[in-house]
Amino acid sequence: MSIGNKIAAVRRTLPAGVELVAVSKYHPAEAIREAYDAGQRVFGENRPQEMKAKHEILPRDIEWRMIGHLQTNKVKYIAPFVSMIESLDSERLAAAIDKEAAKNGRTIDCLLEIHVADEDTKSGWDYDELDAFVRGGGFDAYRNIRIRGVMGMATNTDDETVIRRDFMRLAECKRSLADCFGPEFDTLSMGMSDDYPIAVECGSTEVRIGSEIFGAREY
Ligand SMILES: *Cc1c(COP(=O)(O)O)cnc(C)c1O
Repeated sequence: MSIGNKIAAVRRTLPAGVELVAVSKYHPAEAIREAYDAGQRVFGENRPQEMKAKHEILPRDIEWRMIGHLQTNKVKYIAPFVSMIESLDSERLAAAIDKEAAKNGRTIDCLLEIHVADEDTKSGWDYDELDAFVRGGGFDAYRNIRIRGVMGMATNTDDETVIRRDFMRLAECKRSLADCFGPEFDTLSMGMSDDYPIAVECGSTEVRIGSEIFGAREY
């Protein structure tokens, strides 16, 4: 099946209002171009320099989403154009994004990445720490960041009960934090190739799908 057909097939399974981020990390610009020609405009990458290089050679109306752990000294590569940073996982990173956004005369949309999975390898805020930070006004000073919602990953397992538990937790985190932000806090980014139907059942508003669309990645 072509990339375009795969995108169409995924789209058919998504309810109206659930956004598809095509995760193109490690795939060449030609693959993104194919997806673009099939109408896809929103792409996810996890390495800043790779995103920048692709941004420079691909159409300008692509929305680039950073979904991978971001080092503070690399924010500068993407700050001029990135449409959303979904992996905001620390105060240091918030400060760095705010500073680079200001330099570029922009406000950058961000999601709070929250750690709910069983593995320690996954990044993200501990929910209780995040809750204390937010309620303590931790983000108030960062005028060039707009917090749009929450992002997370489920435990990497075949056990649907565990996956569902993780997605329900993420949904609950978003609900609990909603009173701290305005109506723009509207995004719940969860669900990948292997688990997105469950994420959608649990209220996801945005799925991030890579291998299902582009095939296996070559690292
Ligand atoms: C790679 C990645 C995805 C996409 O994973 P697939 O299994 O290829 O769909 C989604 N979210 C994040 C944060 C990722 O790093």
